[in-house]
Amino acid sequence: MSEPAIIDPGQTLGVLGGGQLGRMFAHAAQRMGYEVAVLDPDADSPAGRIAEHHLCAPYTDRHALDALSRLCAAVTIEFENVPAESLRVLAESLPVCPPAAAVETAQDRYREKTFFNACGVATVAFAPVRDAVELGTAVRSVGFPALLKSARLGYDGKGQHRVENRDEADAAFASLQGVECVWEQLVPLARELSVIVARNARGDSVTFPVVENQHRDGILATSLAPARITDELAEQACAATRGIAQALNYRGVLAVEYFVTASGELLANEMAPRPHNSGHYTIDACAVSQFEQQVRALCNLPLVGPAQHSPAVMMNLLGDLWREERAPDWARALQVPRCSLHLYGKRQARPGRKMGHLTCTADALPAALQNAELAYAKLLGERDAT
Ligand code: AMP
Repeated sequence: MSEPAIIDPGQTLGVLGGGQLGRMFAHAAQRMGYEVAVLDPDADSPAGRIAEHHLCAPYTDRHALDALSRLCAAVTIEFENVPAESLRVLAESLPVCPPAAAVETAQDRYREKTFFNACGVATVAFAPVRDAVELGTAVRSVGFPALLKSARLGYDGKGQHRVENRDEADAAFASLQGVECVWEQLVPLARELSVIVARNARGDSVTFPVVENQHRDGILATSLAPARITDELAEQACAATRGIAQALNYRGVLAVEYFVTASGELLANEMAPRPHNSGHYTIDACAVSQFEQQVRALCNLPLVGPAQHSPAVMMNLLGDLWREERAPDWARALQVPRCSLHLYGKRQARPGRKMGHLTCTADALPAALQNAELAYAKLLGERDAT
C-alpha cells in the first residue's frame, strides 16, 4: 500500500458545519498555516465567521459541494447529522474523513448499539421500536424502567422519555410521533466517561486520557480529565474505543461515550464521529488538542500522543448564564488562576445553548475542580444575588 500523501500547510481544508467545533478546528488549522473553508447554511455561524472561505448553502447543495472540492485539499465534518450522501459526493474527488459509512452508523442509535455489540463492546439492553408491535416486544424483552429515545437526530437529551409502565410507554411513543425509536434499559450510573481517539489512514490510533463527564438536564455540564477511575478501567475503555475505530475503518477523530454501572460494568452509550465537547480540555491541558489531531489525521501528518501536562476541569457555559441578553462578568472568572475562557462568538444566548466553556488546570485534579467551581460561581454570583 502506498503511503497516503501529506497535505502541507498553505492548502485549504474544508469542514461541513459551522458550529463551535468547526470554529475550534479552524483555529487549530489556521495556527498550523492552513486556510479553512466552511460549508454552513447559516450566514453568521461561529466557524463561518473566522474561516477564509464561507460557503453559505445547504449541505446537499451540489454547486456548493463542487465549489468545496475545487477549493479544498481534504474535507472533514464538525457535526454528525451531515447528510452521508454529501460525504460520498465529496469523496469522489478528494479525501474525506470520517468515512460516510461511519457517520451513518453514528446517526442511528439502534444501528450504533448493534455495532458496538458486534465489536464485542457491551451496551445496556435495548430493542428497536418502530411500531406498536415492537413496543410490546421491547416491553417484554427489556422491561421497565426504560428510556425511549428517538433513534435519529436526538442530542443533549432531546427526544427521550423516561418510562415506568405501559401507559407511559404508549404516551411517550405517541409524543415522538411515530419516528423510529430505541428502547433502552435505564441503568443506575456510577460514572459517565468518554474516550476520544484519533486514527489515520495507516491505521495508527492514539487515544486521549479518559474523561469523566457530569450532565445536567441531559446536557454535558462538567468534564474532568483524567477520569477518577482505575488504570484497568481506563485501559478497557481506551481499548474498546480503538477497537470500534478499527472496525469502522475510521479516519479522523472519534469520541465514544460510556456508562459505568453501579456494579462497575463498562457500557458504550453512543459515539460522535468528530471532536467532542468533553475533549475541549485538550486545548489547554495537552501538548496536542483534539482539533490539532483532527487536522493531523486529515492531512496525513504524524499522530503523536496527546501528552496531557496538567489535570483539567472543563465547564460548559450555557445561555442560561446570560440575563436579559447581558453577558456574565467574565473578568470575575478570569481572576481565578489557570482559568481559560473560550467563547464561541454566538450572538444570541438561549437557555441550553452552548455559548462557550471554561477550563481550569492545576497541579492536581481536586484543585482544578475547586478552581473551576469557583470561576463558575463567580459568573453566577451577581445573577443569583439579585
Ligand atoms: P444520550 O442522549 O444517550 O447521551 O443521553 C443523555 C444522558 O442521559 C446520558 O449522558 C445519561 O446521563 C442519561 N442516560 C441516557 N441513557 C441512559 C440509560 N440507558 N440509563 C441511564 N441513564 C441514561
